[in-house]
Amino acid sequence: MHCHYCDGKGSPQEMFEKANRLGFVSVGFSSHAPLPFDNDFCMHADKLDAYVEEISALKGHAETQVYLGLELDFIPEVTTPCDKRWDRLPLDYKIGSVHTLDAPNDQYPMLSVDGPHDEFLVLLNEVHGGSARSMITKYFQRVTELCELGGFDILGHFDLVKKHNKALGFFDESEVWYKELALNALDAVAQSGVVLEVNYGGMLRGATDDVYPSPWLLEEAKQRNIPIQINADAHAPHHLGVHHEHCRALLKRLGYDTQRILLNGVWTDVAL
Ligand SMILES: [Zn+2]
Repeated sequence: MHCHYCDGKGSPQEMFEKANRLGFVSVGFSSHAPLPFDNDFCMHADKLDAYVEEISALKGHAETQVYLGLELDFIPEVTTPCDKRWDRLPLDYKIGSVHTLDAPNDQYPMLSVDGPHDEFLVLLNEVHGGSARSMITKYFQRVTELCELGGFDILGHFDLVKKHNKALGFFDESEVWYKELALNALDAVAQSGVVLEVNYGGMLRGATDDVYPSPWLLEEAKQRNIPIQINADAHAPHHLGVHHEHCRALLKRLGYDTQRILLNGVWTDVAL
């Protein structure tokens, strides 16, 4: 879950109360960790200590366990999940994510694969000359590098690069080159031992018709014995639980029997 410390809409208390009402036994807060430059989705660095304090204060509830986490961007030479500066924080878990790719000039300190359409089109058309293959190659290289680097527990939205594909139709997921790039990155996920999140945030926003990663990739993940976890990527209380049942049914159909969650402070495989 995100909350109003980053780009989420609810307070930690409101997010927690909704999770509790829905009967969740274990929930995690994973606000976007501060970046060293201005942007519209991350927490400001001067709020980090208050965030840690406020989430920690929600712990100890008998029905719904609360875990303190951060979603950490991977931007080589700028910020990574294993930077020493996170070590002072009492984090229960870290999500490692790729949201941004190299920016063309000073006008754009970064360009997100999941940002507004106009920003995304600068990335696709100006940085990559309109070549989806070039941009997606770069994206999955980043995901692979992130997995090789490690220092986190859960890989965020594996194929986020597809977010605008429903609206803009810039590539076809069934093409051989795409499958090869995605599967090579999935091999890196398997090697790293991290948990792969099954994230329905794109569905919540109407951006995608299905989860990250796409079902055919989850089938491949199952063959590689990659542990998974169902995540709302909730940015407001009403996001919680919406497509949970869809994910559960999908995963069971693909042969998954368990998901890996934090329970009593230990990573545990629980029945779906
Ligand atoms: Zn994210």
